[in-house]
Amino acid sequence: MSAKTRILVPGAIRERVLERLQERFDVVRIERADPSLITRAEAADIFGAAVSGRFDAALIEHLPALEIIASFGVGYDGVDVSAAAARGVAVTNTPDVLNDEVADTAIGLLLNTVRRLPQAEMWLREGRWVREGAFPLTPLSLRGRKAGIYGLGRIGLAIAERLKGFGVEIAYHTRRPRADVPYTYYPSLTELAEAVDTLIAIVPKTPETHRTIDATVLRSLGPQGVLINVGRGWTVDEDALAAALKDGVIAAAGLDVFYDEPHVPQALLDLPNVSLLPHVASASVATRDAMADLVADNLHAWFDTGAALTPVPETPFTRKTG
Ligand code: NDP
Repeated sequence: MSAKTRILVPGAIRERVLERLQERFDVVRIERADPSLITRAEAADIFGAAVSGRFDAALIEHLPALEIIASFGVGYDGVDVSAAAARGVAVTNTPDVLNDEVADTAIGLLLNTVRRLPQAEMWLREGRWVREGAFPLTPLSLRGRKAGIYGLGRIGLAIAERLKGFGVEIAYHTRRPRADVPYTYYPSLTELAEAVDTLIAIVPKTPETHRTIDATVLRSLGPQGVLINVGRGWTVDEDALAAALKDGVIAAAGLDVFYDEPHVPQALLDLPNVSLLPHVASASVATRDAMADLVADNLHAWFDTGAALTPVPETPFTRKTG
């Protein structure tokens, strides 16, 4: 039995998480979240975990003393939260500290998509401005657009706040309407898509959101339609999206997230009217540091005070002692 509480860290995680954990804990690292990498004897002595990515039921099952899993990121779809909840294991995520960064990126991606700014920069860098003259006018503009936000939670709200400054109309779809916003609510995603020409997706990966942005939704957006996804690739039918972009069913898309990351379908890579980012919405040093601190702070708070700072709604547990 070690003197310090033992915390398991499977796989890669930001160095700052490890530094902050080492202040108080004995950190046990394994290469990936695989129960075969930790013996039963070692497993018996693990009381908490910090993870960036997967933590499945088999690993939870393998750790009999586990009390808490602190997950890096606001989306915690990599952690088997039902298995954790069933065992009374708390799961925490990193909400709020990344809202502004992700919302900023969503707006940047939207502008890149409608005004083709990355392509315009390439035009300059490749010497085409000198050789061929001005970059072609963009057929699309943000002016006069109607934006529909699919998921008006913490980040969706921050995106809406920014969009207000651009003078675009704002509507949204969630399962339940919010009483605290002035934006128009649509009870279904298709109705939202019919009412707007710019759909911004920022919903979590859940069974209900799987491939909900499908051919019907894209057709509803119409030929001037723009899709921006900064939530999860899981929510988009990528085959239907590639076809819609190719056939002019919608005009353009901007994607930060993909179904099978880091693999991006060739059909999307081949298209000129899609702007692609490698899942960077929260990826600044300052924001990733804030997320790392919240992972560590959750573990510190749990073992110091008996309560986590940001438990996910499925595991509203406090620590059982004695
Ligand atoms: P919140 O939980 O605050 O908001 C989620 C929103 O989605 C709520 O408005 C919720 O409303 C809505 N929602 C959930 N399920 C459904 C559904 N089935 N149909 C319609 N609406 C739904 O989460 P955050 O805003 O903090 O984060 C959202 C997601 O963004 C994360 O889960 C993560 O996957 C992703 N993300 C991506 C990042 C990136 O790097 N690209 C960075 C950060 C987050 P209601 O419950 O009423 O339906």
